[in-house]
Amino acid sequence: MDEKGKILIIEDDKYISGFIAVSLKKNGYLAYVAETGAQGLFLYSNHHPDIILLDLGLPDMDGIDLLKEFRTFSQVPIIVVSARAHEQEKVSALDQGADDYLTKPFFMGELLARIRVSERKKNQVAGQGPEPIFQSDWLSVDFEKRRVSIEGEEVHLTPIEYKLLTTLIHHQGKVLTHLFLLREVWGYEEGSDTKTVRVFMANLRRKIEKDTMKPRFILTEVGVGYRFADD
Ligand code: CA
Repeated sequence: MDEKGKILIIEDDKYISGFIAVSLKKNGYLAYVAETGAQGLFLYSNHHPDIILLDLGLPDMDGIDLLKEFRTFSQVPIIVVSARAHEQEKVSALDQGADDYLTKPFFMGELLARIRVSERKKNQVAGQGPEPIFQSDWLSVDFEKRRVSIEGEEVHLTPIEYKLLTTLIHHQGKVLTHLFLLREVWGYEEGSDTKTVRVFMANLRRKIEKDTMKPRFILTEVGVGYRFADD
């Protein structure tokens, strides 16, 4: 098996971290386990992992604070793996720079899929950037010509709709919060005007989805935001 990336698991529940570490090793990854935030920082500086899996409820510090700390010196992909099902916690983790989140209990296959998304993002950043044309099923976007087509027929998007669509595509597979979209697309610094996002998203979906009730591309993450389908 090819040598894959190094993954740091910061999790105080030994049963969970052990289970994740064994599964990761089976899939060819190198896994390091930290049981506290302090140990996590220490192992990070020693091993420079490619991805961090972060539990929010740690014995020595709040996982959100640790996330902020990592973001002061590193853009390493961080996937929050937390038992806390509260929507607000997920949203604040994502707004503080987490790349994704999973709520316990989860299937290992789901975690591996999220890890692959993070790896691909990392390779894109390291490589020559996104492809000039995005193509998936009936949707095609030519970034140079700023042209969006459905089954070869050009559709007209407003500038905001176009920016919304390209922002989603550039972060394909990753969940984007309402606040993130307000910042990226509208340039707002603050605010929780999720209605604006919803209205524009509904219009965009009408233009690119065949069935807006069962979207193929723009998936809703209830209470959090949106995710562009990963395949
Ligand atoms: Ca915990």
